[in-house]
Amino acid sequence: MRIGCPKEIKPQEFRVGLTPDATAEAVAHGHTVLIETGAGVGAGFTDDDYIAAGAEIAPDATSVFERADMIVKVKEPQPVECALLRAGQILFTYLHLAPDPVQTKALLASGATCIAYETVTDARGGLPLLAPMSEVAGRLAPQVGAWTLQKANGGRGVLMGGVPGVAPARVLVIGGGVVGTHAARIAAGMGADVTVLDRSLPRLRQLDDQFGGMFKTGYASKAATMELARAADMIVGAVLIPGAAAPKLISRDELKELKPGAVLVDVAIDQGGCFETSRATTHQDPIYEVDGVMHYCVANMPGAVARSSTLALGNATMPFVLALADKGWKEACRTDPHLLNGLNVHAGQLTYAAVGTALGLSA
Ligand code: NAD
Repeated sequence: MRIGCPKEIKPQEFRVGLTPDATAEAVAHGHTVLIETGAGVGAGFTDDDYIAAGAEIAPDATSVFERADMIVKVKEPQPVECALLRAGQILFTYLHLAPDPVQTKALLASGATCIAYETVTDARGGLPLLAPMSEVAGRLAPQVGAWTLQKANGGRGVLMGGVPGVAPARVLVIGGGVVGTHAARIAAGMGADVTVLDRSLPRLRQLDDQFGGMFKTGYASKAATMELARAADMIVGAVLIPGAAAPKLISRDELKELKPGAVLVDVAIDQGGCFETSRATTHQDPIYEVDGVMHYCVANMPGAVARSSTLALGNATMPFVLALADKGWKEACRTDPHLLNGLNVHAGQLTYAAVGTALGLSA
């Protein structure tokens, strides 16, 4: 199969769909890999890295789309990319179609077979192609929060780990899923005093078994959340209710009860945010202040560490890329129901019920 990887064109997107390592594996499986010139630059990969892995370098996106049987990307295709897709071609990338009728119609019109990273599942009921980005965002949260805590950035001027004789920062993580667990581990590793709250008792038991010595756990009742929030130097918002907007856990009024210079890192901002005063920010202008409390609400946190994110995503996508290339999409999906769950659009038909429901289209 000819596998094509164009350069991402969505603003501020520096990741790339195929790493040189994934390229080398695909070439070893007998496939041809076409990489658009400069596609990997944002993630620190040169054309020469891809050539060494066995890829051909294509001069522009048009030639990648024209020659490839399967396109592997990161972000949803932009309108000019949708126009380049054709019937019979496979598109494998993040799509997020439910809130995006324009893209959905363009993909239906293309006739292509579109498999969305975000709806591929695994045997444990997880989302294996979303998890790596949650891991990245979770581990990044204490890092950006620690920077925001510095006095010059508006924070309380508290050092995460303290020093001998001086208490460390108190960090509250609300939501103990993938983001929350990784955030808690890094914050604890920086020496902070960390508590993780969740509403799932099985999850709290699991966290206590695994990390009992490293951070505390608590049940996320309203009272417990506010008591810990009042004492916190940093609060990481990491909740998710699948398919719903994030619940607002700290209201505008309650913000006044927090310490002046406390930092809120609202990782759940991509689901609307879990603090009432959260609004999405960018890497260029990531933080703002409300009532003396600093907010960090970047909706695409993994973009800050494009190289690590590309490698993490590449590790997760590679087995699926190889299965699709080796077997063709029909056989790959027939033999793997989890990959089949990723199929959103095929030959002008919507094939994912939840997207149909969200957009009022038949699926
Ligand atoms: P997850 O499903 O693994 O974990 C969510 C956890 O929240 C679960 O353990 C659940 O029990 C808990 N929860 C739900 N409601 C709660 C409540 N009211 N109080 C306390 N806990 C509650 O999800 P995840 O992968 O960790 O993702 C968390 C959020 O981070 C999502 O909104 C996701 O979209 C977002 N995210 C954002 C970025 C970014 O760049 N900003 C990147 C990755 C993920």
